[in-house]
Amino acid sequence: LYEFNKLVSTQFFMVGEFEFIEKLRRKYSLGAIGDDCAVLPKDEKTDQVITADLLVEDIDFRLDWTKPEFLGHKALAISLSDIAAMGAEPKWAMLSLGIPENVWHSDFIDRFYDGWFSLADEFNVELIGGDVSRVPERLVIDSIVIGEVAKGKAILRSGARPGDLIFVTGKLGGAAAGLQLMKNGLSYESMKPDRDIELTLRQLQPLPQVNIAKLLKIQAIVTSMIDISDGLSSDLMHLCKESGVGAKVYADRIPVDENLRDLYRSEQERLEIALNGGEDFELLFTVPEAQLSSLNTWTFLRSAR
Ligand SMILES: [Mg+2]
Repeated sequence: LYEFNKLVSTQFFMVGEFEFIEKLRRKYSLGAIGDDCAVLPKDEKTDQVITADLLVEDIDFRLDWTKPEFLGHKALAISLSDIAAMGAEPKWAMLSLGIPENVWHSDFIDRFYDGWFSLADEFNVELIGGDVSRVPERLVIDSIVIGEVAKGKAILRSGARPGDLIFVTGKLGGAAAGLQLMKNGLSYESMKPDRDIELTLRQLQPLPQVNIAKLLKIQAIVTSMIDISDGLSSDLMHLCKESGVGAKVYADRIPVDENLRDLYRSEQERLEIALNGGEDFELLFTVPEAQLSSLNTWTFLRSAR
């Protein structure tokens, strides 16, 4: 059996990963590290934001569980989600692949790029470079996306203030439940109930919340933002840590994906998946209580995807 993905690996690994980054940050005084993207000055009016994501076969994905088109989509989607988390607009991408012999001699690469480009076209992202190399066994994908935001206007993790309210852009736990279905032996191709297909697609083909981020940016009421890649529990912790605040979360207000209801009888179990599952790629953000009324018009947005 493989350790598959951050979300099913143990808490031990999660802590190890975060501590590793924190150690580098301190040891070499890396000031630009610690958000979803690095923010770089471009000109008097604009900042650039840049993010990198690494996906490794049998750690972050399994080829027998996904389709090449889905994987191409997801490789870009996870980076677009980081750009969205800064309130920025994605512009350019670089994609590098380490390809094993057997994958090279199949139609995989063509189909992978089809998936990648169909999402890129949706958000007007231009591929500007990358690299390709052979690897001995497992496919490796390195995705870099660059975006733009008005100077000084990137939404950081560090802007939350005491009294702010916490929001997410959609339902949580679906991606982790979809992964669990595949771990139980269900393959996407053979899935029947719409519920199972929907959950699995949340895992295999997540939709980055780029459009919602754009609208939130226009409203200018968001004080801090992060995307939910590791899980609400971890990502809220990151946001709190960078902002120097604590958070109170009410269990009955967490938007748990309704599709989980038939699969997990216990409410506790559903809540744990929504809290710790990860990979939902929704946005988690904070708004001062005084601005709440401007946000109320937004509740419909998620269903407009
Ligand atoms: Mg992120």
